[in-house]
Amino acid sequence: MTNSNQVNSSGLPTAIPEAPSGLGTMPRGEPRPAGEDVCILHDAQGRRITYVRVSLTDRCNFRCRYCMPTEGIHKLAHREMLSLEELAALIRVLVAELGIEKVRITGGEPLIRRGVIDFITAIAAIPGLRDLSMTTNAYYLAGMAEDLYAAGIHRLNISLDTLQPERFAHITLVDGLAQVLQGIERARQIGFSPIKLNTVITRENLDEAAAIVRFAIARNLQPRFIELMPSHEECATQFVSADELRSHLAREFHLEPGPRSNEVTTPSNETTTGSNETTTGSNEATPRLSDATGAAECHAAARLYRLDGGEHCCGFIAPMTHPFCHLCNRIRVRGDGHMLPCLSEDVYYDLKPYIRPELRDRELITYLREVLAVSKGHTPAARRIQGMWRIGG
Ligand code: SAM
Ligand code: SF4
Repeated sequence: MTNSNQVNSSGLPTAIPEAPSGLGTMPRGEPRPAGEDVCILHDAQGRRITYVRVSLTDRCNFRCRYCMPTEGIHKLAHREMLSLEELAALIRVLVAELGIEKVRITGGEPLIRRGVIDFITAIAAIPGLRDLSMTTNAYYLAGMAEDLYAAGIHRLNISLDTLQPERFAHITLVDGLAQVLQGIERARQIGFSPIKLNTVITRENLDEAAAIVRFAIARNLQPRFIELMPSHEECATQFVSADELRSHLAREFHLEPGPRSNEVTTPSNETTTGSNETTTGSNEATPRLSDATGAAECHAAARLYRLDGGEHCCGFIAPMTHPFCHLCNRIRVRGDGHMLPCLSEDVYYDLKPYIRPELRDRELITYLREVLAVSKGHTPAARRIQGMWRIGG
């Protein structure tokens, strides 16, 4: 159950911010000047929060069985949703004033939110933002990929659970595999890099895991398997652990453990370490395993395995059996302005009063720091995940 606004603002003097005046007025992006002082967010465990996932909408054109409840969804009222201008203003505070360096746009399905391209253009221009990416089901990607790339998203996570059209329709309730594959192909042509394929592994698609790996590496995409987080009854019988999946894949591939996914190098030998990751316009190959052994602090959820001793790797994200809470550096914001410090903690904090009817950035900053300082969270995800389609994964 949503439990918003659990901690009150301390009622500091109201700041006098300029009200957001529209997406088009955002300044062009530039690096944050060296040494510039930004407030850094920490949570109750002392971890530095540098990453936010923003869900633009709770609407989706798919109905994935593991994501949405079988009995249907209760949609958030339009009036509850933040406008894209309000979301952009929030992200601007998070990046420019609180040290957030990485933003992932998600949903629901982010590409169905009207105005998403202008929104991305505005976000990409925020000084200090080092990493902007999107998670999408790719159904509308073929027609939007070019504009998306030009707007400033160069890194994509694409959800793909099967390569079989009928199974795809069974999982998503939409006969859309061909369109999704077109979207992936278009994104490759345009030069998005990396493109990661997210596969939620279940009893239903375990037999396709090797085929998905082969599909991905043949196209220079990075396959990543995600453990099913339970959202309803059916999940109990569908769950496959990352360890079982690895044993299964080991019949076809030699899997050699590597570092977590932000300790990788690109083929140009440029080290990419999470927030320092850079994006280029080239159709650069998938990030590959470096020789790093994981000594550096890292925040990536995926554990990478080298495939057959070669350059390609496969990621395993195991929130259920190998929680990575100690590495977490992220918060999540839903489209209605509710902030979730942790997927394991069913507690939301409503940021909307600090954004609407006008942005009160000083109070927003104080509130965020307060609630993160008391957030318990980060226990293994034993409970059911509620509303993944709103939170955005
Ligand atoms: N609609 C977009 C998509 O599917 O890529 C973005 C939102 S979706 C909620 C983000 C990610 O969450 C997807 O990769 C999806 O597979 C994953 N996801 C949804 N429900 C899940 C669950 N119960 N367990 C694990 N992953 C889940
Ligand atoms: Fe599927 Fe993503 Fe839509 Fe959930 S939000 S139903 S995972 S496409």
